Amino acid sequence: MSNFQVAIDGPAGSGKSSISDLVAEKLDFTHIDTGAMYRAVCLEALNRGINLENEAEYTFLKDISVENIKKHTYLNGVDVSKEIRTPKVSANVSTVSKMKSVRDKMVDFQRASASKGLVLMDGRDIGTVVLKDADVKIFLTASVECRALRRYKELIQNGEEASLEEIKKAIAERDYKDSHREISPLKKADDAIEVDTTKMTIEEVCNKIISIISERMNSNGKF
Ligand code: C5P
Repeated sequence: MSNFQVAIDGPAGSGKSSISDLVAEKLDFTHIDTGAMYRAVCLEALNRGINLENEAEYTFLKDISVENIKKHTYLNGVDVSKEIRTPKVSANVSTVSKMKSVRDKMVDFQRASASKGLVLMDGRDIGTVVLKDADVKIFLTASVECRALRRYKELIQNGEEASLEEIKKAIAERDYKDSHREISPLKKADDAIEVDTTKMTIEEVCNKIISIISERMNSNGKF
């Protein structure tokens, strides 16, 4: 079976997950949300009550399985798609994801699931580490104000309480941690195409990415 890999990276709230979902659906690709996988490990670590800063306490890693299939995330076979989106998980996931043992395990899972078929994977280090030879690499950006406002509107729409200032602060904090960690920090791969979505609608971003992928699929002769 031929394999075509698309890597989409970008900071928190850049719209990676929803855009990746839409693009994958349109082009019939399998979408793998790697952020959801790190969130699942964070949830397990929180449930176990370990000291998140102490790597020696992550011994549970050898016994867990994490999968992201069709918009659902499974931790040891249990669907945890809702539980991984709480503010508590969002606030702690960057601490968990900086651990080498956590990253090694997730990268193994991610590479295994991207080895066959048409795959679109989104995260922070997909183009730089996980799928270094991806056929297409996209780096999505947007100003922190714009990303905070999008998240704020999403929460309000879902009937939840939210403070724009707090969301902005939390996003800026996660950006800092994700791009300053020692292992696999968030950064644009040299060969990635940067798409600044600040002034674009979701449809415009999707159309742009779809045209980049389609062009590459036609030109590399695989399809
Ligand atoms: O994409 P999302 O915001 O759900 O990711 C949650 C967190 O998981 C990020 O803030 C980052 O700490 C971590 N992550 C990562 N590497 C990836 C994807 C996500 O470190 N490839």
